[in-house]
This record gives sequence, structure tokens and C-alpha cells, in this order.
Amino acid sequence: MHPCPTCTQPINPQRTCPSPVCSDPARNFDKLYATQSPLTHQGEKAIRHLKDGATEWAAILAYGINQTLNATPEITENNTILIANPTASGTHLVAGLDHLAGHTEATLAYLALHTPDITIEPALLAKSHPTRRSGVHGATFDHKQTAAVEHVAAITVTQPQLITGQNVLVYDDVATTCSTLDQLAALLLDHGANQVQALVFGRSHYKPTKDNQ
Ligand SMILES: [Zn+2]
Repeated sequence: MHPCPTCTQPINPQRTCPSPVCSDPARNFDKLYATQSPLTHQGEKAIRHLKDGATEWAAILAYGINQTLNATPEITENNTILIANPTASGTHLVAGLDHLAGHTEATLAYLALHTPDITIEPALLAKSHPTRRSGVHGATFDHKQTAAVEHVAAITVTQPQLITGQNVLVYDDVATTCSTLDQLAALLLDHGANQVQALVFGRSHYKPTKDNQ
């Protein structure tokens, strides 16, 4: 087994990566890095639990992302700005706590303090309203694709001049099919980005079945 050169998923060297996006000639993102690949079942359960209530998630996410940035100099060498895959403010999973947007803010603040080699752009993308979640248990590939398209359709590039000509690194918590990152990369390339790479906390193992192809 060796990591897929595009998405880091461990694959048999004789085979191509099972993620359809990796072999798609129309792929928009260049490469995905991950703090944990593949994400363990235990890790995935922990992330779901933390995202749905605990404010500590931002600290854990930021710590992991920062560790990978420091351990993999090529990421900061090949990217000029870092942005978050945005969440809509007003996404209340816990009453009174706008925690998803809060996670993003807290994570970016941590990275701004600890990661001097890349420019952090906190307010470059805005998501106008919540859309269906991609990472639901048992989601099919079609569900994930549709969720990705809806997610990116709700995003506005607030400061396109900051994207033009940049090598953009997008961070997110978990990637499975990489559909969301690919759609987001298409939006950034449309706005003049030179290249888009991604960094996620967990690269969830993707195994096509007859249900999710
Ligand atoms: Zn791959």
C-alpha cells in the first residue's frame, strides 16, 4: 500500500485510487494533504461528536492543521494563502451557540498565531445559508456530490482581488470523496486562483460500493 499522490488514501500500487475525483481529468484541486490518513473509525466518531456540540473542536482542528503545516514544508512552500471551507453563520446545532462559524474563526485565529509561513485570509469566502450536510453516515456518492454543489452555490467570494494569481490552500475537517473540495476549487479557479490545494484533518477511507458509486 502507498498513499495516492492526489488524495493520500492508501492504495495498492498496482491499482488506481478508488476516489473518482483523483482520476478525473477535469479535477479542479491539485492535491490533498491530511493530518490523519486514513481517518480511523474511532477518530471519525470523535469528530462527529465534537462538531455537534463541543467548543473544543476548533482547538483540536487548529492544532492538527498547524502540526501538518509545520511537518510538511512543501505545503507552505507551494501555497501563498490559507482559507477555510466556509460554514454559514446562523448554523445552530447547539441552541444559542453559532459554533460552526465559531470553529472557523477560532481555528483561523490559532493558525494566524502559530503559522507564520502562510497568509491567513479569514474573510475571503462567505456562505449565505446552511445547506444539507455531506458527511452524514452512509451518504452515497450522489448525495455527497449534490451536497457539494449546493454548498458551493451558497458561497460568495467577498474579495476576489485577494484570490487572483494566488496558490490557495483550503482547509477543512474531513474529506471522503473530495467532492466538496473539488467544487470549491472550481469556484476559486473561476475567480483567478493560480492553483488550489487542500489540507484536511482527517482523510476518511473511501471505498466505492454499489450504493455509493
Ligand atoms: Zn486518490
